[in-house]
Amino acid sequence: MKILVIGSGGREHALVWKLAQSPHVSAMWCAPGNAGIAGERLAKNGAAVECVKIGAEDLPKLLAFAEDKKVDLTVVGPDNPLALGIVDLFEAKGLRIWGPNKKAAQFESSKVFAQAFMEKYGIPTARSGTFEEAKTARQFAGSLGGRCAVKADGLALGKGVLICSSLREAQEAIDEILVRKSFGAAGGRIVIQEFLEGTEISLHALCDGKTAKLFPTSQDHKRALDGDQGLNTGGMGAYSPTPFLSETQLAEAGREILEPWVRGCAAEGIVFKGILYPGIILTKDGPKVLEFNARFGDPETQVYLTRLENDLVEVLEASVAGTLDKMDLKWSLMASICVVMASAGYPANVVKGKVIRGLDEVVRMPDVKVFHAGTAMVGGQVVTNGGRVLGITALGTDIRSARELAYSALERISFDGAHCRRDIGEKAFQREKVQN
Ligand code: AMP
Repeated sequence: MKILVIGSGGREHALVWKLAQSPHVSAMWCAPGNAGIAGERLAKNGAAVECVKIGAEDLPKLLAFAEDKKVDLTVVGPDNPLALGIVDLFEAKGLRIWGPNKKAAQFESSKVFAQAFMEKYGIPTARSGTFEEAKTARQFAGSLGGRCAVKADGLALGKGVLICSSLREAQEAIDEILVRKSFGAAGGRIVIQEFLEGTEISLHALCDGKTAKLFPTSQDHKRALDGDQGLNTGGMGAYSPTPFLSETQLAEAGREILEPWVRGCAAEGIVFKGILYPGIILTKDGPKVLEFNARFGDPETQVYLTRLENDLVEVLEASVAGTLDKMDLKWSLMASICVVMASAGYPANVVKGKVIRGLDEVVRMPDVKVFHAGTAMVGGQVVTNGGRVLGITALGTDIRSARELAYSALERISFDGAHCRRDIGEKAFQREKVQN
């Protein structure tokens, strides 16, 4: 089977790595990929995964490539090509592709759509309002005492959510999006949500248009600095499982969120095939959904796929074919953790082109996998090529041992200006202390 993976980050490296282990795969390409992806080999025949220089949003070229190579399955990593309708385009040409179509991808590409859907179908979420006009938006923010999240409707490179703790901040956020139009068309409308207090966790569910299968829990670390300080980032680390929800509570949260979601999709004629990834806050009144993503999280993918025991090709095929009800997802009992090494300046002004040292040594460490994100091969050397550079991922019998192993691997890798958070997974220990 021939596979094309679209994207170039740590999530896509993890997808490629896991798909490459499948005995079904005889050829694989990644567009555009990165230096780590180019180093992967297929288990079936030892062939290299080939990176092709086509951007993840260049839909016509991706289509032409898939047709030319007679690709059997295309796997879409990032949100933008999904929002642009890559799945509809490929399906119209009779090509198999994994991911939600344009209508289904609206759960992520339009916050207004997602919020209205949650309210219509009784999915627990924050109190909210949708606005096109600054004056009424300010009044609503006032009714929340200014403690709120102001969100641009459309995709804004992960920057369209402004968290406000006072009325002055809320007014500033509303003006920035609706009046000064800092996010362009993505900010034509806004959603304002009450600020929710509690622990934030990620849920992932694999869907096939009828069935949604919940993954174990994981937790991302969005802020740049230890103790959840500093700027918001794409994610500085993740671990799975988390101690914040028991198996029973997870199943309960899944029921409260996924059952109405599946019903709503059926009622609205939405056929969602892919990953639904709701961002959740565990409030004192139960789990509430902040937002939906319509693809795998990054770096959650890295921890999930190192724990998944199924053949990923078979799993994604079942999602495309609508046969997930016949499949059990099997997860290793090991814990997994991913610590992101980022470039100097990330998430603001990123410095690139620094030589990365120590990768060869870490390749030999058992239970450690280094997933590449912003890396490139220049003159035979792996150099930094983005904000998030590497995801050092390790397995252990528990989070503590996985974490020790990940940080000991990380100590062996270096590049100028590298920084990481030192507290990935620590919330799990604090929680355990409280429970004990
Ligand atoms: P989103 O892109 O909607 O997930 O927002 C980005 C981040 O902002 C989330 O991961 C949360 O940490 C935070 N956030 C968003 N909405 C809220 C809310 N209503 N209450 C508290 N925090 C929020």
